[in-house]
Amino acid sequence: MSESDSQEQVAVVLPDGSALEVNADATVEDCAYEIGPGLGSDTVAGKLDGDLVAKEQPVYDGAELEIITEQSDEYLDVMRHSAAHCLAQAVERLYDEGAVKLAIGPPTDEGFYYDFDNLDIDAEDLADLEDEIAAIIEADYEIEREVVSIDDAEARLADEPYKLELLEELAEEEDTVTFYSQGEWEDLCAGPHVDSTGEIGVVELLEIAGAYWRGDEDNTMQTRIYGTAFEDEGDLEDFLERKQEAEKRDHRRIGNEMDLFSIQDVTGPGLPLYHPAGKTVLKELEDFVEDLNKDAGYDYVETPHVFKTDLWHRSGHYENYQDDMFIFDVGDDEFGLKPMNCPGHAAIFQDHSWSYRDLPIRYAENGKVYRKEQRGELSGLSRVWAFTIDDGHLFVRPEQIKSEVEAIMDMITDVLETFDLEYEMALATRPEKSVGSDEIWTRAEEQLESVLDSHGHEYDIEEGDGAFYGPKIDFAFEDAIGRSWDGPTVQLDFNMPERFDLNYVGEDNEEHRPVMIHRALYGSYERFFMMLIEHYEGRFPLWLAPEQVRVLPISDDNLGYAHRVANEFDDFRVEVDGRDSTLERKIRAAHDDRVPYQIIVGDNEEADGNISVRDRFEDQEYDVEIEAFKTHLEDEIEDQRTEPDFLQDE
Ligand SMILES: [Zn+2]
Ligand SMILES: [Zn+2]
Repeated sequence: MSESDSQEQVAVVLPDGSALEVNADATVEDCAYEIGPGLGSDTVAGKLDGDLVAKEQPVYDGAELEIITEQSDEYLDVMRHSAAHCLAQAVERLYDEGAVKLAIGPPTDEGFYYDFDNLDIDAEDLADLEDEIAAIIEADYEIEREVVSIDDAEARLADEPYKLELLEELAEEEDTVTFYSQGEWEDLCAGPHVDSTGEIGVVELLEIAGAYWRGDEDNTMQTRIYGTAFEDEGDLEDFLERKQEAEKRDHRRIGNEMDLFSIQDVTGPGLPLYHPAGKTVLKELEDFVEDLNKDAGYDYVETPHVFKTDLWHRSGHYENYQDDMFIFDVGDDEFGLKPMNCPGHAAIFQDHSWSYRDLPIRYAENGKVYRKEQRGELSGLSRVWAFTIDDGHLFVRPEQIKSEVEAIMDMITDVLETFDLEYEMALATRPEKSVGSDEIWTRAEEQLESVLDSHGHEYDIEEGDGAFYGPKIDFAFEDAIGRSWDGPTVQLDFNMPERFDLNYVGEDNEEHRPVMIHRALYGSYERFFMMLIEHYEGRFPLWLAPEQVRVLPISDDNLGYAHRVANEFDDFRVEVDGRDSTLERKIRAAHDDRVPYQIIVGDNEEADGNISVRDRFEDQEYDVEIEAFKTHLEDEIEDQRTEPDFLQDE
């Protein structure tokens, strides 16, 4: 180490928390070699303070360093980014007569895409592109990284207007940029990449779509090609199978088939309209949380959809969030649609004087909020402009955090278990920049940890991932086909009470600040509804099903009896299929409409005053007494059972 004694040293922090001293000009790869020669030669890329970087990137003092090898989860991202480059290279080889312009080509959760301007191809061309990509992989070009001055970069990108636009922005911060090249092709790119095209496994192109440059509808519409890459054929097959399963469950298609909701051009983008069947499901979801809220001592409040922006100045949303808000003038005043319900609830709390004995105060509202997402990003119920949060805000004394959060956790797990959703939890703790005293942070984090410990379910601690205004507990859950979703959160807030100057009078007769807790059990109804549609493939549990029972007369002669039977079931959502059609067709239709139970009535049933019951597993039971089936339906609904089980529990 005598050589390094004379050099300036920096220290990086390794994942196990230990510090590694290296020369000040050391790269990620140098650090890996320092840890061990095996790791050094396996290094593909690195992560510095959570950002994926090239292995050639110099480290800096105090950085948290993670070495990325083929074994890391992030390796797939690196390989897919390299696959995106192969796609662009293939496009330029096959379709470029100088006209195609390159935009961006990042990896995504499921693969990668690349955006091109002036590229006119359709789905039939994807096979040719895949062949060309395979040839590029086969050729095993070395992928070379080069550090280039801004002037040089400008000269190289003279024909690429979109790249020049990106370069201009980079030039504001950096003196140099990096290029990656493979064979005859190169791209302005921060990387990282695999060492050669031969290291990319299998690539499959998935679809072609339109995409606005930078997601902004005022810009040019470009051609986006989506693809994915895996290390081997088996992983790709698994992925394609899961994708097909997800498409079968697509909530937009099922929502249309079941007439649950629509999003129309004439009413506006990202603004879902719930049809009667959809609202029926939503209403059941609302009633479910309303019961939980009332049992847990919440009071319902209601606030308007629009407020004067004075409120958003006070809450801080105006400074931090105005680009995502719908803001407009009325006379001399400025107003905004609410992007969050919290400030309205804080204003209600502020309108009283409170004693410590009054706390906790718990407000609940199904609050509609409006957030201006990029139009190009809007999709079904998953990304919308208008959505409703099953919102709740609590104002508590600092020593009440534990018991209140405990109660909220019980409500959340009740909801997730009702829908058979496996979940994970994580505690996000104080970030570097934060408001609030050390005392309140320590106290709050200790209480949250003790709640999580006593909850008896494993959890992760995400150090420094809390909001600047308080720590939080995040839930993530898994649906029926193993996809992971962001779930509910419990968020502590030390900031809003300051901004709104919220107080209560303590036992000591002094004024004190309450802590605010934000919580939602579903999160947004829209996203939860979408998830449920896909989770159940539209086959909702009986208590949620828009149509619970359908009566099918075997022939027109039994129509009168069918209606009398339907009347017997008028406590349930029941319909009669009175069409002049065969029984087989009526059964088919009820099945396609995902109705949990069919009641079939013919001459025999009519003579006996009984019914036949058929469930959606196509099992049938004859000679059932009407009263017995009613009782069964009531119990199945009451218990919120997830599958029809009349024939299963006999
Ligand atoms: Zn790139
Ligand atoms: Zn809130």
